[in-house]
Amino acid sequence: MTTNRKVDKLLNQKNKIESELRKIREECNHAQRTVKQIPRGEGRQTDTRWVCDECTKIVGYPSQFDIDKFLNKRKK
Ligand SMILES: [Zn+2]
Repeated sequence: MTTNRKVDKLLNQKNKIESELRKIREECNHAQRTVKQIPRGEGRQTDTRWVCDECTKIVGYPSQFDIDKFLNKRKK
């Protein structure tokens, strides 16, 4: 059985993109962070996390205080 050429090519591109993203994220100092809701796997559930504005990496877990601030901001 041979792998579909197109799949092969796409996986290759995906690997390249992922390693490039990893490199950018390693070099980033995540200076600008925002609390954001990130989809958790499939479905409508979300996680609330600190996300770097520049490289979109998840950089931490917000405290309850941060989450409240974030939710209050969204209401206005
Ligand atoms: Zn970053």
